[in-house]
Amino acid sequence: MKQSVPFLNLQGITQRHQTEISEAVQQVISSGWYLNGESLARFEAKFARYCGVQWCVGVSNGLDALTLVLTALKQLKGWSDDAEVILPAHTFIATALAVTRAGLRPVFCDVSEQNYLMHVSTIASCITPQTRALLPVHLYGQMCNMPEIMKLADEYGIDVVEDAAQAHGAKSQEQKAGAWGTAAAYSFYPGKNLGALGDAGAVVTRDAALAERVRALANYGATQKYHHEFVGCNCRMDEIQAAILSVKLDFLDADNEHRRELASLYAQHIHHPEIVLPYSGETDESVFHIYPIFCERREALQKHLERCGVSTLVHYPIPLHRQNAYKDLPACSCPVAERLADTELSLPISPILTKEEVLYVCEAVNSFRGKPCR
Ligand SMILES: *Cc1c(COP(=O)(O)O)cnc(C)c1O
Repeated sequence: MKQSVPFLNLQGITQRHQTEISEAVQQVISSGWYLNGESLARFEAKFARYCGVQWCVGVSNGLDALTLVLTALKQLKGWSDDAEVILPAHTFIATALAVTRAGLRPVFCDVSEQNYLMHVSTIASCITPQTRALLPVHLYGQMCNMPEIMKLADEYGIDVVEDAAQAHGAKSQEQKAGAWGTAAAYSFYPGKNLGALGDAGAVVTRDAALAERVRALANYGATQKYHHEFVGCNCRMDEIQAAILSVKLDFLDADNEHRRELASLYAQHIHHPEIVLPYSGETDESVFHIYPIFCERREALQKHLERCGVSTLVHYPIPLHRQNAYKDLPACSCPVAERLADTELSLPISPILTKEEVLYVCEAVNSFRGKPCR
């Protein structure tokens, strides 16, 4: 029987915690204190502990978190405007925009055929005397090979900033995303594994000076009210979002566990000669922000699934080096990223998707032959 499986049901995700969220929001409303208050401090301490680092600075969104880290590093380390930051060509545009906004140069590197992530063999060929940082992205919820990336960065004496916007709770060798590099940026965009009810983001780091600079930059460059040490911006997380995130953080591990169970159902039940399943790490488990599959006839598959009532999305259809916004950068070749952009299709996955729904999606996928399903 035909069912309808949405890509993501945010209303349903929020409804599970309706009571706790309403109470938390009501408390902020009654307090009369809406920015830079206790709710933010509480969330920051809680999220820093969760990530296994000393410092967390709550900010306005993920793009600002990345931009602030890079800007702070540029200032603290005295990087020039031709300093280069290496990032994968296969990621969301925000990763590159942050580099540009910080007044640094993005250098796109290709990704691994095995796990779609930036890896040392492609990074090495992009390193120049101007390279100051690597910006690995833990895409789809899967951690990059951080031990190898950190080793390479140490050899060259360059920094590592993790884009952990899709990897809340992901671990590599028992160490969370954000605890590997100099710092990491998180996004709490509503659809992420830990989502606010609006925009929010965070910077996590072990480096006290870096955290302090990020905090100052995000608050008009002030270290003390009306004393502006730096050319800052207004990139703060508000109290209401912080209070909501503190509530939702308690459910993150269980939500991620549910995502992993659904992912293993997909892996068990999808059998199709034209469809390639995502990499599944043997030791480093993904938190499956996205469940990507790969198919040469992607458009036909997507149409077929739509006819079966299954909503899908493409993450992402155009690699960064092919985006118009970056047409003026030196040409580069990233064949793996290009192939992923042409073949990737994201199946529904979420903390409230049921096993029955996943099995229905598997049936729909397996029935892909260009024929409508019954
Ligand atoms: C969502 C996302 C961002 C940006 O986060 P926003 O909060 O939307 O600004 C950055 N990088 C990646 C990989 C993302 O998925």
